[in-house]
Amino acid sequence: MAPVRLCSVTKKFAENTVLREIDLEVADREFLVLVGPSGCGKSTLLRLIAGLEEVTDGSIYLGDRQINHLPPKVRDIAMVFQSYALYPHMTVYNNIAFGLRRQRSRNLSPLAWLSPTSKKQKSEIDQRVQQVAESLQISHLLSRKPKELSGGQKQRVALGRAIARNPQVFLMDEPLSNLDAQLRSDTRSQIVQLQKQLQVTTIYVTHDQVEAMTMGDRIVVLNKGDIQQVDTPLNIYRKPANVFVAGFMGSPP
Ligand code: ADP
Ligand code: MG
Repeated sequence: MAPVRLCSVTKKFAENTVLREIDLEVADREFLVLVGPSGCGKSTLLRLIAGLEEVTDGSIYLGDRQINHLPPKVRDIAMVFQSYALYPHMTVYNNIAFGLRRQRSRNLSPLAWLSPTSKKQKSEIDQRVQQVAESLQISHLLSRKPKELSGGQKQRVALGRAIARNPQVFLMDEPLSNLDAQLRSDTRSQIVQLQKQLQVTTIYVTHDQVEAMTMGDRIVVLNKGDIQQVDTPLNIYRKPANVFVAGFMGSPP
């Protein structure tokens, strides 16, 4: 696990500046919520950390290592999106195990993927899949295919697949926005529990103020590519830094 640090990160798409000199530090094992209205740059910020977009200016660190020039695969960061993106032809078990098998072939010799999985490796993978499934309460679904699952179940499988290989950083981009209200609130507390259990540095993106107030150790409020405030939920509510934060987070006047 490691802290994430953004130093003066700017992102432009052509002439459009989407993020402006962002300085941000996410502590080791912290659950940070990034909240702001639609189009303010939340997804772009996550995509920069994951390596799906390149910074225009500035740098990103994971621990002591500068990562913003590294390809996504070697950053050791997992990301979950609003859509579930499961492999439809694979069982839940194999969806979760998939990343683990790939990790194994990356860590061993370049030809390791040609060799069959040994008994020991198989049992390690099996153990990890069972452990992850248990903590997400999906053990009873392991032999099903994605089309046999509800939306909430699919999203839990997607979470399981992302965290199975023990990433250093876990990024979630509005993972609950496709779910109905009751399911959203159940899954919300499950995600918080999971994060505490795994102790993985986490950035959770949402446009939902209730999610932000109830989930994070700290909240970052973003608007039009600028950070408005970074603080605990209580301080954001009690002492909003400006009129935007007060209005957006619903603080009392
Ligand atoms: P949010 O996730 O907060 O809704 P985004 O990060 O998706 O916001 O988008 C921020 C801004 O960047 C928007 O104006 C969006 O149109 C623009 N944008 C995002 N991705 C691209 C892209 N690949 N090319 C051009 N503009 C983009
Ligand atoms: Mg977005």
